[in-house]
Amino acid sequence: MVIPDGSTPPPGRGIFCNRTLNLRSVRAIGYDMDYTLVDYRVDAFEHMVYAQARERLASEGWPMDGLTFDGSMVTRGLVIDTELGNLVKADRFGFVKRAMHGTRMLEFNEQREAYTQTLVDLSEPRWVFLNTLFSLSEGCLFAQAVDLLDQGALPRAFEYASLYRHVRARVDAQHLEGHLKAEIAAAPERYVVQDPEAALALLDQKAAGKKLLLITNSEWSFTSKMMTHAYDRHLPGGMTWRQLFDVVIVAARKPAFFTERGPFFEVVDEMGLLRPLVGPLRTGGIYLGGSAAQVEHDLGISGDEILYVGDHMFGDVHVSKRTLSWRTALVLRELEAEGSALEAYRPTELRLITLMREKGTLEARLSQARLALQRLHAGYGPASDEDSASLDARVRDLRGQLLALDAEIGPLAKAGSEMTNVRWGLLTRAGNDKSHLTRQIERYADIYTSRVSNFLHATPYAYFRSPRGSLPHDPGGAS
Ligand code: IMP
Ligand code: MG
Repeated sequence: MVIPDGSTPPPGRGIFCNRTLNLRSVRAIGYDMDYTLVDYRVDAFEHMVYAQARERLASEGWPMDGLTFDGSMVTRGLVIDTELGNLVKADRFGFVKRAMHGTRMLEFNEQREAYTQTLVDLSEPRWVFLNTLFSLSEGCLFAQAVDLLDQGALPRAFEYASLYRHVRARVDAQHLEGHLKAEIAAAPERYVVQDPEAALALLDQKAAGKKLLLITNSEWSFTSKMMTHAYDRHLPGGMTWRQLFDVVIVAARKPAFFTERGPFFEVVDEMGLLRPLVGPLRTGGIYLGGSAAQVEHDLGISGDEILYVGDHMFGDVHVSKRTLSWRTALVLRELEAEGSALEAYRPTELRLITLMREKGTLEARLSQARLALQRLHAGYGPASDEDSASLDARVRDLRGQLLALDAEIGPLAKAGSEMTNVRWGLLTRAGNDKSHLTRQIERYADIYTSRVSNFLHATPYAYFRSPRGSLPHDPGGAS
């Protein structure tokens, strides 16, 4: 293990800040488990969920032969349009920038036709946001199901919305019915990515006086197996993951955990035997269900003294921030790949910036020449030094230069739009703008980072400061 020197974190391993957060004033840190404290091999995990849901659909007479999980077909942050059977990527305003019907990307004109009048608004039931890496199998299966429906290959009729609900229910069932968890628990090394630094980061936080909470939607038996597998081997002499946490809450039912006041049950033995909780939560206890409001009350900690760290954009981050004003951290594993891709693209990007500046200059000169021609022909405005023939020649010349420039810009821009995923590009961007996911991150996540162990490099005493946001009219910005 590399001991950090405290200056800069390894590439892609920073903690990025939207709203200033002083860890010294945080008294409790709550952690989600799946894809937060415990990281999975996405492809293996989603492959299995997909395969089990596919079997289920095949048993209902769906023609599933030849269909496989394709981890590049969808990404987190896309939105399912349940009305049109599409997957779309939207920018921060909700404008659709790319769209796929079934498994086929829409041409620009088709996309414009479908969405010029429509903004993605996640408060409407039409749209389903892919919040977490657990959403990938569902997105892929839905896209393939739309193809089957369009081909008339399904045993009964569906609208796209009911098709979505059908697929969703089959995926949901895999998570709830236990085969999936049994398979992972039987061979955790195939699914879990070890990160020894995460254990040390938690030890640091605990020793710095933070209360550590584990708040997961997973059941007790799965939580216990995963945490033992991912943490115990990295803790010092005989210590187990249980000693890291002041309070463990399983089957928390997030997001309802943050908005409702469900009762707590105490998990009284390793088999998961339950009894209703009488009195307040106690240090070292293991609980099921409950509510964030009772956590605040029993620990005597207010919302702005609790930092909650999770990977689910809505269930972990959006709701805890909006409902209780907890401090929030989003874990976004894909940031590491995005960081490397942006790094590799940097020379191309610099060239593109230069070319775009040239393009801007040429376009401005073309506009001036066209305006001079217009005034000359219509006989108004200040007299021009040039006659019509010379202005015409200039317009032609500038158009030629712009065409040549576009031919050079096109492939560079295309490469930029295909970074990390040919269909969808970077998770955090949509065209030149921020993606819808990024908009939610900046609204609801005070900080975001690729994995929990990045706190190791930051230390429990870090002061995260948000950068001064840039605006289009800033000096040196676009003129
Ligand atoms: P957490 O991230 O630690 O709160 O746990 C997430 C839990 O939700 C895991 O046990 C997942 O198996 C489960 N989960 C993920 N996606 C779904 C779903 O679509 N339906 C039901 N459970 C899910
Ligand atoms: Mg999670």
